[in-house]
Amino acid sequence: MKPSDVSTLPDGVPEALEAEGIAELYPPQSAAVEAGVADGDSVVASVPTASGKTLIAELAMLSSIARGGKALYIVPLRALASEKKTEFERWEEFGVDVGVSTGNYDSDGEWLASRDLIVATSEKVDSLVRNGAPWVDDLTCVVADEVHLVDDSGRGPTLEVTLAKLRRINRNLQVVALSATVGNADEVAGWLDAELVESDWRPIDLRTGVHYGSAINFDDGSQREVSVGTGQKPEAALVADALDETVDGTRGSSLVFVNSRRNAEGAAKRLTGVTDTRLEPEERAELDELAREIRDASDTDTAVDLADCVETGAAFHHAGLSSESRSLVEDAFRDRLIKCVCATPTLAAGVNTPARRVIVRDWRRYDGEFGGMQPLDTLEVHQMMGRAGRPGLDPYGEAVLLANDRDTMDELFERYLWAEPEAVRSKLAAEPALRTHVLATVASGFATTRSGLLEFLDQTLYASQTDDDDRLATVTDRVLEYLAANDFLERDGDTLTATGIGHTVSRLYLDPMSAAEIVDGLREGVESGGTDAAESPARTRPSDDGEAPDDAEVGFVTGSDLAAEADGDADSGGEPDSRSDAGGDGEHTVGDGPTLSALGLYHLVARTPDMYQLYLKSGDRETYEEQFYEREPEFLGHAPSEFEDVAWEDWLAALKTARLLEDWASELDEDTIAERYGVGPGDIRGKVDTAEWLLGAAEQLASELDLPAVRDVRAARKRVADGVREELLDLVGVRGVGRKRARRLFEAGIETSAELREADKSVVLGALRGREKTAENVLQAAGRQDPSMDGVEADDDATASAVAADGDGEKGETSGGERGDADDGQATFGDFS
Ligand code: ADP
Repeated sequence: MKPSDVSTLPDGVPEALEAEGIAELYPPQSAAVEAGVADGDSVVASVPTASGKTLIAELAMLSSIARGGKALYIVPLRALASEKKTEFERWEEFGVDVGVSTGNYDSDGEWLASRDLIVATSEKVDSLVRNGAPWVDDLTCVVADEVHLVDDSGRGPTLEVTLAKLRRINRNLQVVALSATVGNADEVAGWLDAELVESDWRPIDLRTGVHYGSAINFDDGSQREVSVGTGQKPEAALVADALDETVDGTRGSSLVFVNSRRNAEGAAKRLTGVTDTRLEPEERAELDELAREIRDASDTDTAVDLADCVETGAAFHHAGLSSESRSLVEDAFRDRLIKCVCATPTLAAGVNTPARRVIVRDWRRYDGEFGGMQPLDTLEVHQMMGRAGRPGLDPYGEAVLLANDRDTMDELFERYLWAEPEAVRSKLAAEPALRTHVLATVASGFATTRSGLLEFLDQTLYASQTDDDDRLATVTDRVLEYLAANDFLERDGDTLTATGIGHTVSRLYLDPMSAAEIVDGLREGVESGGTDAAESPARTRPSDDGEAPDDAEVGFVTGSDLAAEADGDADSGGEPDSRSDAGGDGEHTVGDGPTLSALGLYHLVARTPDMYQLYLKSGDRETYEEQFYEREPEFLGHAPSEFEDVAWEDWLAALKTARLLEDWASELDEDTIAERYGVGPGDIRGKVDTAEWLLGAAEQLASELDLPAVRDVRAARKRVADGVREELLDLVGVRGVGRKRARRLFEAGIETSAELREADKSVVLGALRGREKTAENVLQAAGRQDPSMDGVEADDDATASAVAADGDGEKGETSGGERGDADDGQATFGDFS
């Protein structure tokens, strides 16, 4: 079957597909068309990685749009949303408008209504449904990518419930579910009332085997000799072996999967020895250029390490990298410039980065719940192995596991090479998932009675997979009790009604348990006056270094007062040093009056189930215990006792997370934070984003409950969003001015956007380190009539203060504010870009 045989596509699309090199549809694609995927019928396609699932989705969505409909593509990871959107944008020339949901409901609302094809994560879709986005009713085709992830206990239930809701809103909805090969695709198809297309066809042969001793032992019984030198790691021998085999003038590239970020970095560094000696001179020049781009994009140790590896033809890839570094690595690997990538499974599974040889080095991973190493699922290993072989470029793909004894080799054969992948099992009956979805289902009017609720839940995969109807009813009742006890809903006989606050919680997309924690914490803060240690219920202070305020009932101090106070303490000398390490002492407001400190608020949101906390490493317990006692009056809510081991650890882990946020909001540079907390720039951004969202939610809850905490919460939120102290909040509001530029301007005496508008140009230019284009853009954004810098000389004093503002000289030159040229309004996140 050819693209032109699919008569339902918009005009011009078949020709465009053929021009892309899609002469024939792959067999699973033809099977999907025969099953009606282009005619509006629901289809579950369970086929191996790299067998062209995206095109199945495109055939369905584009045909649906050609019939006047509207399509939604649900991605499994936020990082994939923009990648998919870019991919689909090539259809815009055929009249298909593409949009991605950014998650900002207000700005999304109307705009998305005008799009034909929308890309979003399941969480975003769930949130849009909860908020009653009207265009959801117009959807005619919904694609769920990687639908086997309904098995994931964290995010699976949201995908499951979202699909059930969308199908209920629109009874004729076409659902196209794309899945890796799983053990029970028929059950998934049964649940979605869809035709099943199941296939193990691949566009390129895949040979799988286990390396043991001096050879790869393939599952067809053949062998390939790959001997390992003394002191050499087997993966190094395998990467070298692939590179030394030239087909059609190209050397074979390798993708090495390992189980942690640290291992990915370590393995890549070691493998540079293999790749470096096999580079052509012109490749070296291109790699140098690529390394420079990576260094320019970020100044963290991680980026520098990555650039060092890249110069010699190897790279690592994990979620701790900035998205810019990630895509630079992916592109260069696809272009065969980078010869070897060491990756963690999470991200690499979703990205189309084929390699001639895939090496699954680690097949066990640390499992916190289990408390030790656990083997990966067969499904996951199959997905990694499926990345082997680039159609049209390699003669075949090879996927290799590693064993250092015969027993392990036998085990690997049984567990991964000969085994069928696992069945997909719903995780909806887990309490945290139900808590969230039951409230949302009631609040958004999907169910108004207990029986209606159970009837809705009956349409989920969970219900279709269980014989025990009582279990769902029992957990649901427990959850209803919890929600009623926290005033999120009212129950009157069979009737269920969400309260005002319940509606808010659902709309804000909070886990009800997070909302309960936040509300309790804010109330407690109000009652105790926030910093009143004497009111702290669970413990007595071991040292009396902080005088609790005498009058716990004193009114609230505003956030700005608080910050001014804090900054006054920390910044008195205006010294870069005091600023760069200001976190702790700067905001230690004990005795200065009752107010909610930023740290207290960061800690409050950090201990909710919606925040993924930092781990305590060895020695951390003592460090954070000490900090806890030092700053005890600032914490909101009831601290557990030191003897409640798990709860206490949790409290301290939240404190570590809160300290990271506080450091960020005190202008500590990204590199120092990364080092101090042992995290990558991607992690810092993740924590900051989550904190911003949770504090925004806290602000709304406080305002709805008329708690006077609103202003403190807002100040804390804005500071964490922009990564600045209070005094810079106005300046960072100017487009193109990130935290670093704001600090430089401030130190040069320009303290507000109004002052910037009127400021002496030479001072602005000096503060912005002589960059004329930047200075012009910034002035223009501030509303200056004539922003031109023609003939303006940079003021030396301003330059000197800018350098001083950077603390340690040139550091930060290439990061932070320098990204402010981007006119996406995100300049305040410069450090992450
Ligand atoms: P999956 O989602 O199944 O892992 P993708 O949809 O990413 O796989 O497809 C893998 C690659 O195959 C893509 O580069 C895609 O352009 C290409 N491809 C898909 N269908 C065809 C086809 N019929 N002919 C040639 N190439 C195709």
